[in-house]
Amino acid sequence: TDLTTTILGRIRDVPDYPRPGVVFKDITPLLGDPAAFRAVIDALAEDLDVDKIVGIEARGFILAAPVAYRSGAGFVPVRKKGKLPAEALEASYDLEYGSAVIEVHRDAFAPGDRVLIVDDVLATGGTAQAAVELVSRAGADVVGVSVLMELAFLKGRNRLNGVDVRALVVI
Ligand code: 5GP
Repeated sequence: TDLTTTILGRIRDVPDYPRPGVVFKDITPLLGDPAAFRAVIDALAEDLDVDKIVGIEARGFILAAPVAYRSGAGFVPVRKKGKLPAEALEASYDLEYGSAVIEVHRDAFAPGDRVLIVDDVLATGGTAQAAVELVSRAGADVVGVSVLMELAFLKGRNRLNGVDVRALVVI
């Protein structure tokens, strides 16, 4: 479709970032293009009926906040450990080397809030899986995970069983 072409034409492959052998998908050309940025936000927000949009630090924030605004939902940040000021719940997940911890405020949701989690890229799925766990433990109802781009060869979707995972483009 048009949207697929728009997105694929504005994502830049950066070889050997952040490590040798990794090809990083750089979304900054897309973000810098007014029509493309708007088309992506509109597509992510289409037909949403949720109470809160969760954005995952840091690129997830850039997409999640305008999606929340556009869909009349609240915005909730999921941040790397130690960044949130009030009492937080944490979840850890494995990285290729070592592990990472993300947090959400304990009182970020009302019981039963319908929540969509938004990030830029779904790779191995570890980040999204930890975010789903966090939001559930905080008492909300995860209605889905939406990303701009899914790297299907990394099979992140397999770690998100029972979650409605949507990607604007899959490569
Ligand atoms: P995962 O936990 O699924 O392996 O990695 C997804 C997380 O890492 C997302 O928060 C995403 O922002 C980041 N990430 C991993 N690979 C890429 C990439 O190639 N491009 C971008 N923009 N983000 C990536």
